[in-house]
Amino acid sequence: KGDRLRLPPWLKTEIPIGKNYNKLKNTLRNLNLHTVCEEARCPNIGECWGGGEYATATATIMLMGDTCTRGCRFCSVKTSRQPPPLDPDEPLNTAKAIAEWGLDYVVLTSVDRDDIADGGAEHIAKTVSYLKERNSKILVECLTPDFRGDKTSVEKVALSGLDVYAHNVETVRELQRQVRDPRANFDQSLSVLKHAKKVKPALLSKTSIMLGLGETDKQVYSTLTELREAGVDCLTLGQYMQPTKRHLKVEEYITPEKFQYWEKIGTELGFLYTASGPLVRSSYKAGEFFLKNLID
Ligand code: SF4
Ligand code: SF4
Repeated sequence: KGDRLRLPPWLKTEIPIGKNYNKLKNTLRNLNLHTVCEEARCPNIGECWGGGEYATATATIMLMGDTCTRGCRFCSVKTSRQPPPLDPDEPLNTAKAIAEWGLDYVVLTSVDRDDIADGGAEHIAKTVSYLKERNSKILVECLTPDFRGDKTSVEKVALSGLDVYAHNVETVRELQRQVRDPRANFDQSLSVLKHAKKVKPALLSKTSIMLGLGETDKQVYSTLTELREAGVDCLTLGQYMQPTKRHLKVEEYITPEKFQYWEKIGTELGFLYTASGPLVRSSYKAGEFFLKNLID
């Protein structure tokens, strides 16, 4: 059709590679962990793995396999109604591997498993508690499914010993149906974030929004306001990138200045932390920020 937008210059720049990058990359080879950083070819890997100014290494690990029961229109993960069963040894093996890997901050994420009664909550919770038993210093963020809004599942994860409870609303309220799987929606996601905070007020809650899907400024503003009113602590905003031609098109490349503007708005609205930029991803340099600023 020839109507795809050209990539703007700010998305073509090289990102620096920090000093621990090679060390982490080499140890990973022997550990049998699947990182989103590598599989999604995340452009921030050099910085996250290498650690930035404070040499804080962050990585994102995928649990529960590589096949999702949902099919969001922005996401390149494989879909099936009946993915292979969970590996019962995964929580312990993953925890052992991460504990030895030399990370400061880890994000545990997963596909959505609507085929499992608790959506995999127990599996995630076990991984966190095994990991904290082996390395009490590592900070753990879970980027969780919505568990179809099931409160018991949210509680299991929220009380597992993690530090940051993340769940992404992905886009503004108005675009939920076009962008996410029909089983997901804004209010359900908001209720998950609220419930996690309610059962454990000491944890930090966090969400992410992709920009460039055709949302208006007014919609972004009201979405941020709603998130803040629901008690969400941390926010990240990044550019949506189309993974393949079969996925939703990019409607707009948001300028770095506009991302800065949203960062300012986030701060004004009272988020403890707002990371906003074209290449910001939900876990972007999370460790650096949390270790230095929020958790002592
Ligand atoms: Fe990995 Fe997330 Fe950093 Fe990308 S932003 S390298 S996925 S931790
Ligand atoms: Fe991708 Fe998550 Fe949607 Fe599954 S639920 S398709 S992993 S974004």
